[in-house]
Amino acid sequence: MLAPFVNETYNDFSIEANRKGMLAAIAAVEGRFGTHYPLLVGGREIRTDKEIASLNPSDPSQVVGYVSSATPEIADQAVRAAHEAFPAWSRWEPEARARILLRAAAIMRRRRFELNAVEVLEAGKPWLEADGDVAEAIDFCEFYAREAIRYGGAQPTTLMPGEEDNAYYIPCGVTVVIPPWNFPLAIACGMTTAALVAGNTVVLKPASPTPVIAWYLVDVLREAGLPEGVLQYVPGSGGAMGDTLVAHPLTRIIAFTGSMAVGIHINELAAKVQPGQIWLKRVVAEMGGKDAVVVCDDADVEDAAKGIVSAAFGYQGQKCSACSRLIVMDAVYDDLVARVVEGTKKLTVGPAKDVANAMGPVITESAMKSILAYMEIGKAEGTLLHGGGRAAEPGYFLQPTIFGDIPAGARIEQEEIFGPVLSVTKVASFDEALKVANGTIYGLTGALYSRSRERLERARREFHVGNLYLNRKCTGAMVGAHPFGGFNMSGTDSKAGGRDYLALFLQGKSVAERL
Ligand code: NAP
Ligand code: MG
Repeated sequence: MLAPFVNETYNDFSIEANRKGMLAAIAAVEGRFGTHYPLLVGGREIRTDKEIASLNPSDPSQVVGYVSSATPEIADQAVRAAHEAFPAWSRWEPEARARILLRAAAIMRRRRFELNAVEVLEAGKPWLEADGDVAEAIDFCEFYAREAIRYGGAQPTTLMPGEEDNAYYIPCGVTVVIPPWNFPLAIACGMTTAALVAGNTVVLKPASPTPVIAWYLVDVLREAGLPEGVLQYVPGSGGAMGDTLVAHPLTRIIAFTGSMAVGIHINELAAKVQPGQIWLKRVVAEMGGKDAVVVCDDADVEDAAKGIVSAAFGYQGQKCSACSRLIVMDAVYDDLVARVVEGTKKLTVGPAKDVANAMGPVITESAMKSILAYMEIGKAEGTLLHGGGRAAEPGYFLQPTIFGDIPAGARIEQEEIFGPVLSVTKVASFDEALKVANGTIYGLTGALYSRSRERLERARREFHVGNLYLNRKCTGAMVGAHPFGGFNMSGTDSKAGGRDYLALFLQGKSVAERL
C-alpha cells in the first residue's frame, strides 16, 4: 500500500546544517575530480581508450571526470544486450519493478547533497537549481512507480455476454533514452525510470557535457536492485554513435529530450524501417522552446517583474521553459521594463559552488560562443538595456542580457538561444499580444499576467502552449501538478510527469475468453 504521491520538498540553504552539508558534499565531489568512469553493457563495465572529459563550466581547467566513450560497435552491443534482457524483465510484476523506483528515490534522498554537488560542479547549476533537479528526479521515481501499478492491473472493459473481456498494458522492448544536459539528473531519470518501470529495457546515452551525473543515476538504480543487463550506460558523441542506437532494428522506442534539430533528425531516422526490423518505432521527443511571458496593462507589474527575472535568468536561461520573450502592453511597458532591469542588476554571476551567486556559467565554450553571437544580433535588432557580453573568466560566465524594442519576427524573438538573453516586444492590444506570443514554430511554456477574468479565460483557450501559467512565472513545472511538454516544434505533445506518460512506453493487449 502506497501513500498518495506528494512532491519532494526543497532544501533551505539559509539553515546552517544544510549549508554545511552542501559544502562538505562539494568538497567530497571535488576530491573525486579526475576519476575514470566505465560504460555499462550487459552488466559488464567496459573501459575505452577514448574518453569524454567532463569539465566544470565554472572553471574548465577542472575535469569532473573522464568517462569512457562508446563507439558505434559498443552502441550496437548495448542494444543487443538490452534486447536479451527484455524477456525476463518484462515478466516482472509491475509492483516489483515499482519497488526498485521507490528504493531509488529513497537512496537519492539519502544522497541528496552529494547529487546536488555533482550538478553544481558538472552542470554549473546554482545550489537551489541543483537541489530542484534532484528533487524532480525523486518525484519522477515516486510518481512513475505509482503509475506503473495503476497501469499494471486489468483495465475497465465492456463485458460481452458469454465472455471474460480484459485489457492489459504490456511493455514494448528496447528503449533508447537520450537526455539533454540541462536537467541532467531529472530528465535522464524521468525518461529512464518511466521506460524501466513499464517493463522495457534501456540503453541510456547521456548528453556529452554531463555524463558523470548520469553515472550516479546508474549507480543509484543498481544499488536499488535493478537486475544487471536491464540498463546499459553508453556515453558517447551523439553525432558519432547516436544514429546507431536510433536506427538499430532491435530498438523499439526512442525517448529523446533536446534540441529541435536533433529531435527532427531522430524522428526521420526512426521512421525508416531497417532490414530485420519488425515494428514501427515510437519516438517520444521533447524539444525546444521560445517561451513568452505576456504582461497586460491591468497586471500586478511588480509581481510580474519578479517572475520574469527568475524565469529568464534562472540557471542562466538554459531551461526549455525559460522566458526568452517578454511581450508587454504599451501602457505598462516603461514601468515593467524598468523593474525587470532593476531586478536583473541584482543578479550576481560567478562560480556555481558559491551559494551567493544567483547565476553560474553557461554549459560549454561552444554554447557561450553561440549565445554571444546572438547578443550581437540583438544589438542590431533592438536596444540593449542590460548586459550584452561576458561577465567573467575563465568560466563560461555571461551577463544576464535584456534587449528592448524588439520587433515581433526578429531573429532573437524567434530562435531558441538557450542562454541568459531576454527580448522585449511592445504591443498595443491584448489581441496583438496573443498573436505575437503564438507567432513562433514552438509551443512549450507561456505565462500571462493580468487581472482581467476575460483575458485569463481567452488565454486558456488561445495561448497555444503545452504549459500555460496564469499570474505566475513560466518555469518550475512540478511532477504531477504540471504535466510537462509542448506543442508544435516543441515536441511530440508528450507530458512528462502526467498520467498519460507511462502509456507512451506500453502497448495495449485485449484478451477475450469465451466462457
Ligand atoms: P541537443 O544538442 O539536441 O542534445 C540532446 C541529446 O541528443 C544529447 O544527448 C546529444 O548528445 C544527443 N544527440 C545529438 N546528436 C544526436 C544524434 N544524431 N542521434 C542521437 N542523439 C544525438 O540538446 P542539448 O543541448 O543537450 O539540450 C538543450 C535543448 O534541449 C534545448 O533545445 C532545450 O529546449 C531542449 N530541452 C527540451 C525540454 C522539453 O521538455 N521540451 C527539456 C529540456 C531541454 P551529445 O551531447 O553527445 O551531442
Ligand atoms: Mg561539464
